[in-house]
Amino acid sequence: MSGKTILLVEDEAAIREMVSLALERAGFTVWQAEDGAQAERLLADVMPDLMLLDWMLPGMSGIELARRLRRDEVTQDIPIIMLTARSEEDDTIRGLESGVDDYMTKPFSPRELIARINALLRRTSVTQADGTLDVGGLILDTHSHRVTAKGEAVDMGPTEFRLLHFFMAHQDRVYSRSQLLDMVWSRGSFVEERTVDVHIRRLRKALEGSGCESMVQTIRGAGYRFSVKP
Ligand code: CA
Repeated sequence: MSGKTILLVEDEAAIREMVSLALERAGFTVWQAEDGAQAERLLADVMPDLMLLDWMLPGMSGIELARRLRRDEVTQDIPIIMLTARSEEDDTIRGLESGVDDYMTKPFSPRELIARINALLRRTSVTQADGTLDVGGLILDTHSHRVTAKGEAVDMGPTEFRLLHFFMAHQDRVYSRSQLLDMVWSRGSFVEERTVDVHIRRLRKALEGSGCESMVQTIRGAGYRFSVKP
């Protein structure tokens, strides 16, 4: 039994039932929503450990919902697996740019889906019950907004804090400057991509001497990655 909860957003009842059944058999608790609006109403009350989000939904698309969730501080860290149909595969990259963590093309086997879910949960569940994230001795407290590295307090500005929070919750993945702008900066603020570089520099400077500055990595031609591995 995993004890984890999954929010499934899918408008086709047959797929919803099939997936729910498979997940429940695997020990997950499943909440179902037929569309984005219903999903948002549910998310006002409950916080799933992961979301399965259908791409093509009536009304708000899965992509649009994913973008909205990523811009909301409360929901931005929910791991999302997008469910797509074969014909939509070309759009996969666009899906990943909206902050989706993984995708599965229909039809898929329940077994494959559960393997992906478990892999994503392992990769993303770093936030402890007390609201702290601990990655390699770097600890970020989401309640008090304090950061410590190997026990020493680290001072940083609010933007660097949000950037570090995002990185720690999304390790080992490369994000482009525009993706970081989309997910870390508030909606509607007009900032140029080089602003990201400025705050990355400040974040590294704040971490200097802590032994953690090497976790913020530049990937030439692609963007930035946060990782404990070199
Ligand atoms: Ca659909």
